[in-house]
Amino acid sequence: MLKVENLNVFYGGIHALKDVSIDVPRGKIVTLIGANGAGKSSTLRAIAGLVRKKGKIFHDGEDISGAVPEAITSAGLVLVPEGRKIFPHLTVYENLMLGAYIRNDRAGIAETLDWVYGLFPRLRERAWQKGGTLSGGEQQMLALGRALMSRPNVIMMDEPSLGLAPLLVKEVFEIIAAVNAQGVTLLLVEQNAFAALRVAHYAYVLEVGRIVLEGTGSALLADDRVREAYLGG
Ligand code: ATP
Repeated sequence: MLKVENLNVFYGGIHALKDVSIDVPRGKIVTLIGANGAGKSSTLRAIAGLVRKKGKIFHDGEDISGAVPEAITSAGLVLVPEGRKIFPHLTVYENLMLGAYIRNDRAGIAETLDWVYGLFPRLRERAWQKGGTLSGGEQQMLALGRALMSRPNVIMMDEPSLGLAPLLVKEVFEIIAAVNAQGVTLLLVEQNAFAALRVAHYAYVLEVGRIVLEGTGSALLADDRVREAYLGG
């Protein structure tokens, strides 16, 4: 569904990503784990067309390596950025509708809104509340709900658990699993290795810009190197 081949990113003299190759099969959850500054966000931003890069990216068999961000989003590959980036002064409903800006099928949009409200009943209850007054977990739901409004086939999420209390982290990962069960493919970037590996079908470990290890989520959870470096021994 999404294939990244030999991705390289440079920021001035910094070689931030070194030949990163990732395969995200249709219908799966794939996660990229790694420490601060490993290059996780850069990988997602490069795939989304937001930073200059070298290497090849294929989405649904199509070469999107040179595509502009709008074209990538229109093709169904959507990034949910770190820090959630919802619009605090707009209502929940308005935030969600912004996610559908590339569509013009009114009936279809209404149907998708209903689907999103079904996935996140709390967003329906709070439709007229300002986004900025939602709790951290609710804002994360809103960010994901907004992404779903464009009816994507692949969602890339940058640190969905960042800054959330443990109970909310659990909830966010349950939501991720629920969205995946609806047929959406996910590429997830996380510092919370434990939660990410538990939900992921397949995982990659990124260290200073390079993939150093890969395997199924359960294999990496059991891997001594991963346990020591990312799971606190
Ligand atoms: P974190 O978990 O802290 O967000 P990350 O794994 O997502 O980290 P990136 O944000 O991708 O890592 O950063 C990778 C490296 O590239 C870091 O050394 C960072 O300082 C550097 N970097 C990222 N963005 C820029 C930029 N716009 N200009 C210069 N250097 C950058």
